[in-house]
Amino acid sequence: MPRLSEVIAALENLWPAERAESWDAVGTVVGEPDQEVARVLFAVDPVQEIVDEAVKLDADLLVTHHPLYLRGTTTVAASTFKGRVVHDLIKHDIALHVAHTNADTADPGVSDALAGALDLRVTGPLVPDPADPEGRRGLGRVCAVDPPLPLSEFAARAAERLPATAQGLRVAGDPDAIISTVAVSGGSGDSLFDHVRAAGVDAFLTADLRHHPASEFMAATAFTTPDARRPPALLDAAHWATEWPWCELAAAQLDEISDRHGWDLRVHVSRTVTDPWTSHSPSPGAPN
Ligand SMILES: [Zn+2]
Repeated sequence: MPRLSEVIAALENLWPAERAESWDAVGTVVGEPDQEVARVLFAVDPVQEIVDEAVKLDADLLVTHHPLYLRGTTTVAASTFKGRVVHDLIKHDIALHVAHTNADTADPGVSDALAGALDLRVTGPLVPDPADPEGRRGLGRVCAVDPPLPLSEFAARAAERLPATAQGLRVAGDPDAIISTVAVSGGSGDSLFDHVRAAGVDAFLTADLRHHPASEFMAATAFTTPDARRPPALLDAAHWATEWPWCELAAAQLDEISDRHGWDLRVHVSRTVTDPWTSHSPSPGAPN
C-alpha cells in the first residue's frame, strides 16, 4: 500500500504546482505524509457533502479541483464551514489535495475531459502555454466536430452528455448554424472571448457567462465582420458540469499509475452534484 507522500508525488507529476496561476492555491491542504492510502475519491468541490461522502466511503485521500482556501485564513475552527471540513477530514484520517489551474492547463487537462465528454476531437489549446515546446498545454481547447452539426443538435448533445444540473445549457446563436469547430473551456470562460474570436471557431462552450461580456462579444464580432462569418455561438453550461468530466479523467490517470506501481488503489469519482443552483423555472412562453 503506498504512503500518501508517494501518491501525492504522482499527482504532482500529473499537475505540477508551479504550473498553477500565481493567485491560485493548489497542493496538499490536509494530510499526513506517512499515512497509507488505499482508497481515493475525486470531486470538483471540497464541500461538506463531499467530505461526508469520503467518510462514508472510508477514503484516505480526497482530490478536488477547487481549492478549500483560495485566500489565507486565520482560523480552522469547526464553528466555520471550512473549518468543519478541515476537522472532519483530520478526524477521519482523510487527506485533501487540490489540482486547480495546474489541471486546467495540463495535457490532458480539464478542457480535454470536457471535449471528450462531448465527443469532440481536440486540435490544440485555445491559449497555448508558451512554456510547452509541444504546444499541447494551455487554457481551453479548440476542437473539431466530426461530422458538423446544427447548433441546436450540438447543444442537445452537450445537454445530454454533461452531468445533469438544474441550469442545463443556455445558448446564444442561430439554431440552424452549422458547427464544425468549437472552443471549450471548463469553468468560468468569459475572460477568453478575445482568444475565441481569434480562433475563428463556430461556437464556444464554457460556464458562468455574464450578460455584458456575452452580449458585447456577440455584437462586437458581428460588427467587425459584418459580411463574413456570424459571431460564434455561445453555450453556457453549469460550472460544476463543465469540470466534472475531469474527475473521471483524473481518476483513470491515477488508476493507471496505481496499476503500474502495483498499488492496488481503489479510485472513485463522486457523482454528487455540488452545483449551487438547485432548480430552474423556465419562463412561460420562452423559446426552448
Ligand atoms: Zn472551476
